[in-house]
Amino acid sequence: MSAFIKDGLARNFLAGNWVEGDGGNRIAVEDPGSAEHLAHCALAGEESLGKALEAARASFERGDLADMRPSDRASLLWRIAVEIHTIADEGADLLCRESGKTLSAAHEEFEEAAQYFEYYGGVADKIEGKSIPLGPDYVDYTVYEPYGVSAQIVPWNFPVSIAARSLAPAMAAGNSVIIKSPELDPIGLAMLGVALERADVPKGAVSILNGIGRDIGAKLVASSEVDQIVFTGSVPTGQAILRAAAGPVTPSLMELGGKSAAVVLEDADIDTVIASLQSGIFYNAGQVCSAMSRVLVHRSIYEDVVECAAALANGLSVGHGLENPEHTPVISAAQLKGIEEITSTARQSGARVAAGGSSLERQGYFMAPTILADVDPASRVAQEEIFGPVVCITPFDSDAEAVALANGTDFGLVAGVFTKDLARTHRIGRKLRAGQVFVNEWFAGGISTPFGGVGKSGFGREKGLEALYNYVLTKNIAISLKG
Ligand code: NAD
Repeated sequence: MSAFIKDGLARNFLAGNWVEGDGGNRIAVEDPGSAEHLAHCALAGEESLGKALEAARASFERGDLADMRPSDRASLLWRIAVEIHTIADEGADLLCRESGKTLSAAHEEFEEAAQYFEYYGGVADKIEGKSIPLGPDYVDYTVYEPYGVSAQIVPWNFPVSIAARSLAPAMAAGNSVIIKSPELDPIGLAMLGVALERADVPKGAVSILNGIGRDIGAKLVASSEVDQIVFTGSVPTGQAILRAAAGPVTPSLMELGGKSAAVVLEDADIDTVIASLQSGIFYNAGQVCSAMSRVLVHRSIYEDVVECAAALANGLSVGHGLENPEHTPVISAAQLKGIEEITSTARQSGARVAAGGSSLERQGYFMAPTILADVDPASRVAQEEIFGPVVCITPFDSDAEAVALANGTDFGLVAGVFTKDLARTHRIGRKLRAGQVFVNEWFAGGISTPFGGVGKSGFGREKGLEALYNYVLTKNIAISLKG
């Protein structure tokens, strides 16, 4: 492995070089599956941030990516994808240990990251403008231009694939990028720099800095040297970033939290619902922005669904991510405490704990797979993002009531409908306030389907062709032929 790790210390990928950051500061990274120390990561400070900004600007001004022939930019992205495949085994091992997720999920993350570069490599030479008719005396056309320096802040739940989700389209469009990795699990993402290095990404075009959000994260997004902000994370941090962006008026893309609901109609196949529930709320221990965190069930099949959900939760295998169990730890002691605290409020608000309800007695940060039934839609557990393996189930009697309940939070990331009735699917699907609606399969779709929220879940879209237009500015050029 290149200079990425030296003497057990993961380093920063700054303008094509592996550096230790400023003042010898480092952050300890823990293994949530054992609660033991795993590694250290060098912390970037203000000096490193300044160098990364300078290098990104210089790379953009030189036209390293922006002026590269688009078909060559496509080849560069494909080379990155190839290199990600080659580091996937080693990267997945590190990511599994630092995040607590299963080894197979960590591997999927690297593979998904490679797919983003394959996909956006395929469109790098197809970012086509329009010709606009203005009559015989004018020629008018639009061009899509990169913003310049794109600052990208990444959360800890899918650090590698989320970073790739924004980095690949930004590069395809010709932007320079500075990524700020998450404090809790920065090592797998730092390793993405190895793929960038091996693929010969122009020096300065991409930097990956390990740093504290409130420190260099805040300084990065407030910088007038940044031309665009891409933030994926929680609502409070998103709000703080929007306030910082208001100073220099920096365009921002916000991919925030969720409290997404599945609507289960009376003709739904219960096995299908339960299979979706397993991936929807227990994949990555429920630490998924688009988790199936609420399930609204028609009263006629309500008790059957609650019983099957409880059986699922009670039957999941539990273990360290390296063993590829069905249920894994959450990321940290603080995360576990927060999940337990909000879950404990459920009983007081009248909910029935059908499975789990508290942490598990074992080494590491494990929350029991938890099923809360009879949840009051106005209660805290039904309104706030828990970001853990806890699902809230509530009955309904009519389609209109189900839609009102599904839409009854501040969020609007995704939603779902389970039914065999196509007409009702369409009617309900259109009324759900969400950026994406899954029908009969939670997480249906993939890297080519647009993703993003409404309300406090944010704005702008990632994934698919749609995302590309977040990374470009439209310029209109109008030419008079009269003179
Ligand atoms: P977080 O908001 O605490 O942190 C996200 C990132 O922001 C981290 O890298 C952190 O260091 C950085 N940060 C913190 N304060 C900052 C500041 N003042 N300025 C700049 N950067 C700052 O979120 P988290 O706990 O890492 O992630 C979980 C949240 O992310 C959940 O709410 C989840 O729903 C959301 N999320 C959303 C999506 C999506 O695509 N919509 C995807 C994954 C996660």
